[in-house]
Amino acid sequence: MEKKHGICTEGPLDCVIIGAGPGGLQAGIYLGRYNFSVVLFHTPGGRTNHAKHIENYLGHHTISGPALLETGLDQAANFGVVVERARVERVTVRDGLFEVLAGGKSHLSRFVIAASGANETIAPFKNLSRFFGVSYYTCMICDGYRTTGKKLIVIDRTIKGVRISLAMKRMYTNDVTFLAHGFSPLPQYAELLKDEGIGLVEGRPEELLGVTTLEGIRLSDGRVIPCEVILGWGGISMNDDYLEGLDLERDSEGFKIVTRGAGESSIPGLFVVGSLRQGHSQAIISAGQGAEAAVEISTRIVEL
Ligand SMILES: Cc1cc2nc3c(=O)[nH]c(=O)nc-3n(C[C@H](O)[C@H](O)[C@H](O)COP(=O)(O)OP(=O)(O)OC[C@H]3O[C@@H](n4cnc5c(N)ncnc54)[C@H](O)[C@@H]3O)c2cc1C
Repeated sequence: MEKKHGICTEGPLDCVIIGAGPGGLQAGIYLGRYNFSVVLFHTPGGRTNHAKHIENYLGHHTISGPALLETGLDQAANFGVVVERARVERVTVRDGLFEVLAGGKSHLSRFVIAASGANETIAPFKNLSRFFGVSYYTCMICDGYRTTGKKLIVIDRTIKGVRISLAMKRMYTNDVTFLAHGFSPLPQYAELLKDEGIGLVEGRPEELLGVTTLEGIRLSDGRVIPCEVILGWGGISMNDDYLEGLDLERDSEGFKIVTRGAGESSIPGLFVVGSLRQGHSQAIISAGQGAEAAVEISTRIVEL
């Protein structure tokens, strides 16, 4: 493989990056600027792709997730990173190197950065796609601010919704209703909400109402609750099936990957950045983690 600045690499790659979200791209930009041999594999999708307005990323008043990623891909490629659209199927460790299987081909690499993020699990409400990311949100850190001063419904299937409702009232809007999805909160929680001036409705949401603007939500018993914005439940599933054969340390729920300094996993040389690893999931945090992992890898390569 020939690199842009005339540096040739025979044998294993310096690093394979898996995923073109902010974490993988930022790592690619750093490693490309060290003139290392780097291949970045990615498939369409990822969480950032769903973000319609990112307003908390330094340097941009507002930018859509897809626009941020498109610029990042271009930046990484300009620094000599080989960008390939292919799904990584398996990562194994062999003789101190990583073997990465992607698009039917095998690649040997000294280091791997797993930055493949997660996928949203979306509630099955009718018309949700019409409002998702516009007036139906699933992440308070990402989009809480966008509910400021608006008529809000918080939907949750657990008692956690009470805490979220209290936090939303404290930070963003006085007009909060908690819709307890399919359960009845204990009387002391109902009392607490009442004391704080937060409405409580129990029921099963079925359909979001409105054509271009969200107007309310219809429950399965026909009741309609008016609203302008919703903070609803949503989960994530990890994009980490290609790591299955590896004995990776995970959190107590066996879900997110535990990392140590600079994002290295329990497998030396395998770094994990972004939503796959423990901690808060934000675009700028993922990008910072990508940069940190790349700097650490550069130090190791130079020491080697
Ligand atoms: C609706 C919505 C709004 C959001 N708004 C904001 C916001 O305003 N501000 C903010 O900071 N954050 C926001 N976020 C969160 C933010 O997008 C994520 O926390 C963060 O960007 C995750 O970055 P990441 O690098 O982990 O990966 P992702 O952005 O999830 O990208 C992962 C990449 O890996 C690829 N991939 C997955 N599996 C494979 C595989 N096997 N082989 C190859 N490639 C693979 C994916 O296709 C994708 O390219 C929002 C998220 C959503 C869903």
